[in-house]
Amino acid sequence: ASRFDGVTMAPPDPILGVSEAFKADNSDLKLNLGVGAYRTEELQPYVLKVVQKAESQMLKRGENKEYLPIEGLAAFNKATAELLFGTGNPVIQEKRVATVQGLSGTGSLRLAAAFIERYFPGAKVLISAPTWGNHKNIFNDARVPWSEYRYYDPKTVGLDFEGMISDLKAAPEGSFILLHGCAHNPTGIDPTPDQWAKIADVILEKNHFPFFDVAYQGFASGSLDEDASSVRLFAARGMELMVAQSYSKNLGLYAERIGAINVVCSSPDAAARVRSQLKRIARPMYSNPPMHGAKIVANIVGDPTLFNQWKDEMQMMAGRIKSVRQKLYDSLSAKDKSGKDWSFVLHQIGMFSFTGLNKAQSDNMTDKWHVYMTKDGRISLAGLSSAKCEYLADAIIDSFH
Ligand code: PLP
Repeated sequence: ASRFDGVTMAPPDPILGVSEAFKADNSDLKLNLGVGAYRTEELQPYVLKVVQKAESQMLKRGENKEYLPIEGLAAFNKATAELLFGTGNPVIQEKRVATVQGLSGTGSLRLAAAFIERYFPGAKVLISAPTWGNHKNIFNDARVPWSEYRYYDPKTVGLDFEGMISDLKAAPEGSFILLHGCAHNPTGIDPTPDQWAKIADVILEKNHFPFFDVAYQGFASGSLDEDASSVRLFAARGMELMVAQSYSKNLGLYAERIGAINVVCSSPDAAARVRSQLKRIARPMYSNPPMHGAKIVANIVGDPTLFNQWKDEMQMMAGRIKSVRQKLYDSLSAKDKSGKDWSFVLHQIGMFSFTGLNKAQSDNMTDKWHVYMTKDGRISLAGLSSAKCEYLADAIIDSFH
């Protein structure tokens, strides 16, 4: 007998569990399109050259490894807020942003969730249906109630904009509305600028609180500014808002766990108070955040040569994903004789494609074709090479029919 007899086996994580199953498969044909991590055309992990350069400079300088403050590295916090809002943005000039370094996107969201639980008890978070699998876990663990708003319309394989607006209108006044800043995960479908403006109208009207998750800035379009335009539009409307950021994808710093939570407040005084309470939540959880990734980001953004090199590499990564997207579409259209319209593959943005394959069809992808993917029908195009597009198209067509 063990004291842990009452501890049941936890189910595998729906996203990270896919990688575990992939490792256990011995087939030469196997393809891992589960987790969202960028791979080269040879399907190898990629460390950005600019990151290697920044790291070698750091090593040469022989920097120490003493604790960071609870709120993280000051140079990183400044750089990350400026990257998000733009250097000249009034919210920055007026010192109205509380920025605290977090443990990448996930840890920053979790910190924000703890803050909501503490200062807005009973307030609800509205999340898109569907959304990134971990959002629900984060709010559940923080004991923040949530419900869904309509987002994806399977009929049009597009945005259910009317459904979204009416659900935001029906939500209790003062709800937190979780929005994907760009490259919505898993659908790859973003609102247009006009639609963003209307979403902002409804949020203002209902006194809701916008809460952005920005995990793909610069990685979706290739442009840091373009991918931040939704957040900047809301900030320009004078709203208080929150933004979680991640450098996992755009700088390839997945395992360094580097990101931030930014809270835009209506006054510098409110920002100072919010920052102090975010620190108070962080201290007993993990004390202070890791330094390495924070220094990499700060050094790259702070050096014009490195900054430009980063932008080039980001465009290269975004460009490779767009080119396999095109190739997959071409292969599907050429091979499929059913007349199905595959153009949704081209219209989606970011590293994923939401195929519309249901669970049984996704199981067929894995069991018969050795293609590993999440069971909601999402495939990561970042894990696809152009050489494998034809094979993947065969697998998708077979699984649909
Ligand atoms: N939010 C979204 C929408 C994501 O897709 C991801 C990663 O896949 C994250 C947040 C957080 O990732 P990380 O914790 O690695 O920064």
